[in-house]
Amino acid sequence: MNMKKIEIEKKLEEIFKDRLLLDTADLVSYGFDASFGQYMPEFVVQVLSTEEVQQVVKLANEYVMPVYARGASTSLSGGALPVKGGIVMDFSQWDDEFEIYPDDLIIKTRPGVRTGRIHELAEKHNLMYPPDPSSSVVCTIGGNLAENAGGPRGIKYGVTKDYVIGLEVVMADGAVIRTGGQTIKNVTGYDLTKLLIGSEGTLGIITEATLRLIPKPIDTKTAMIIFEDLYTSGKSISKILTSGVRPSKMEILDHNALNKVEDYAGLDLPRDAAAILLIEVDGEPDNLIKELNIIKKALKEINVENIEIAESKEAENKLWQVRKLVSPAVVESGYTKISEDATVPLSKIPEMFKKIDEIKKKYDLNIVVFGHAGDGNLHPTINTNMRDEEEVRKTEDAVEEIFNYAIEIGGTLSGEHGIGVMKKAFIKKEMGEDGVRYQQMIKRALDPKNILNPGKIFPEEGEERLVLRNE
Ligand SMILES: Cc1cc2nc3c(=O)[nH]c(=O)nc-3n(C[C@H](O)[C@H](O)[C@H](O)COP(=O)(O)OP(=O)(O)OC[C@H]3O[C@@H](n4cnc5c(N)ncnc54)[C@H](O)[C@@H]3O)c2cc1C
Repeated sequence: MNMKKIEIEKKLEEIFKDRLLLDTADLVSYGFDASFGQYMPEFVVQVLSTEEVQQVVKLANEYVMPVYARGASTSLSGGALPVKGGIVMDFSQWDDEFEIYPDDLIIKTRPGVRTGRIHELAEKHNLMYPPDPSSSVVCTIGGNLAENAGGPRGIKYGVTKDYVIGLEVVMADGAVIRTGGQTIKNVTGYDLTKLLIGSEGTLGIITEATLRLIPKPIDTKTAMIIFEDLYTSGKSISKILTSGVRPSKMEILDHNALNKVEDYAGLDLPRDAAAILLIEVDGEPDNLIKELNIIKKALKEINVENIEIAESKEAENKLWQVRKLVSPAVVESGYTKISEDATVPLSKIPEMFKKIDEIKKKYDLNIVVFGHAGDGNLHPTINTNMRDEEEVRKTEDAVEEIFNYAIEIGGTLSGEHGIGVMKKAFIKKEMGEDGVRYQQMIKRALDPKNILNPGKIFPEEGEERLVLRNE
């Protein structure tokens, strides 16, 4: 062990005692996330306070060592992977400090709290924290803030950044700053809150957040629309959104996705359908059926008539169960799941579906498509065998074609999963050389020694192509 490492270990041991993990088994476990690729950190520390985070960052700054913040490691873009070794800072144990202020409609929370617990607490007070990533039972709010996570409710209520009014952040030099505040309106100075949300742990480490809540809608109603062809399912999305009704959720599953769920859970789904759309409306109970009827009428104009409305809460829950089971069903049906989140303008969804279908046939890959249809946020998901070199190469080419096409039709590489390791090879295609140069200027200004989550977002030399396997 070199001198630098010995000194860092000694100092971390003084601060963390048995919360400093050094065993190979522990280090290996912290080298994965929900994407793929495996990297070994040198140290893992389980932080429990802002002061501890500050001490780690100061140490990393002094010794110029990478620091990787880690929540529940559900990132699908390799966000928390310690690609350059260094220190992994595990927030998942700091999970019980959060408090609601119902009269102010805010929650103050520490980063390790699971998003699902924030939902539960808000609901106890008849309030709602709308951002609802499908992983909310396990993911942390810190990870959501760093990725600007979205979810099914994004179509009506927006995403994480729309609900953050203040942050406490440890900056790369160890300074603790506060951004925003506790009021909905605040225009004092630059909006660093918005800059830090979605910055993937590369500009600062979030140690506290103040989140805005809204009144919980009184009731919901859900319908399933069954399509005979994929193109029409895409066209229906704009038709619904221009009908005068704003659904609270609108999720799509293509033929392959719904059949995988049916194989996995046997929910009596229409196996022959080219796609299904699940639509939820929320609000005043008397209005809900009226709203679904408006949607029905609009769809009839384009000859879509196969619509089933869930008549009971049980039937409604069963429909949403279908959406929740897509990921586990896909995971069980193959080897490594590569989940993308290319996002396109709503009017281009039919074209995107068509293109993905062509790519699937061209490369003969196991691709399913599902996602947040109302946001244009599709999740083409490929199940691939990482031990089969030929298949991995085809998958890399297919992913690249999906991204290229999404950008070509005015879309983006990522609607919610972030760039991380997975998509950095493509960022210049979307932002251009100058766009990326200016982003890197911000990174250098806030983290001049490049210690916060290095190796993410921006490609380094030789990283101009997607490589799925790190040997
Ligand atoms: C089955 C499944 C479904 C999913 N569904 C959705 C979905 O609907 N919508 C969606 O948006 N995402 C979804 N995701 C992706 C993932 O859950 C989100 O990106 C989530 O926000 C990650 O949270 P986490 O706690 O797991 O963070 P991690 O994966 O541990 O980390 C993610 C990023 O956050 C950074 N980070 C973590 N804590 C901090 C902190 N305190 N300060 C600074 N940076 C920090 C890390 O460095 C990393 O860059 C899904 C994932 C899975 C596996």
